Amino acid sequence: MRYLILSDIHANWEALQAVLEDSRDAYDSIVCCGDIVGYGPDPNRVTDWVRQAASTASIRGNHDKACAGLDDISWFNPVAQTSALWTRRELSPDNLAFLRALPQGPADLGRFNVFHGSPIDEDAYLISQRDAADVAGYLDRALNFFGHTHIQGGFLCHRMGVVRIPRTSTRDTRQTLQFEEGVRYLINPGAVGQPRDGDPRAAYVLYEEGSDTLTYHRVVYDVASVQHRIRAAGLPDLLAQRLGVGS
Ligand code: ZN
Repeated sequence: MRYLILSDIHANWEALQAVLEDSRDAYDSIVCCGDIVGYGPDPNRVTDWVRQAASTASIRGNHDKACAGLDDISWFNPVAQTSALWTRRELSPDNLAFLRALPQGPADLGRFNVFHGSPIDEDAYLISQRDAADVAGYLDRALNFFGHTHIQGGFLCHRMGVVRIPRTSTRDTRQTLQFEEGVRYLINPGAVGQPRDGDPRAAYVLYEEGSDTLTYHRVVYDVASVQHRIRAAGLPDLLAQRLGVGS
């Protein structure tokens, strides 16, 4: 089985379309590590697509919870609050119900686990090597996919310590990771719809079950079009600006 691993689509239809076009014919099944909606201008189109294409292997993210009314948004910053309330008003009843029913990670998908934030707290951020080292003992499987930080890469957890996996260079469109015995992997495919690692290109991972490698990918998409529609929807301008710089 070949998997397309996505995370943090954030209602960005253009970025999602670019990823699907770029990865066409390279996968059999789709996994989504959460944050289908929030921030972006296309919550219904993106949720419709996830329901049709990836409903059996998607977990919820903190923005899915917030936009579906499952979480208190008072701890969100003002921009995230505004976007969550806008998204909640926009979503169709069917899509709201789908987001409300999304399972919480970790989800065991046979060869790997999937969670949004960390294996012990779906809302926690794995940003530093220390963050990863603190949860490495909770990893039931060698291979784990997560999101939430919007930073492509992740961590290699050796017995002797944790090593950060850098994102794909801005000069390249892909990067291959070779698996080693005895290492546990925390793999962040990066954000499809709102990268925060300094590279505005949409991010994803391709993984083939049984293979000893996986590949990280980056693909350009029509950022200006999404920025235009974020502004036309009356969403905070910061959300448009940050797509342009990927931070
Ligand atoms: Zn997110």
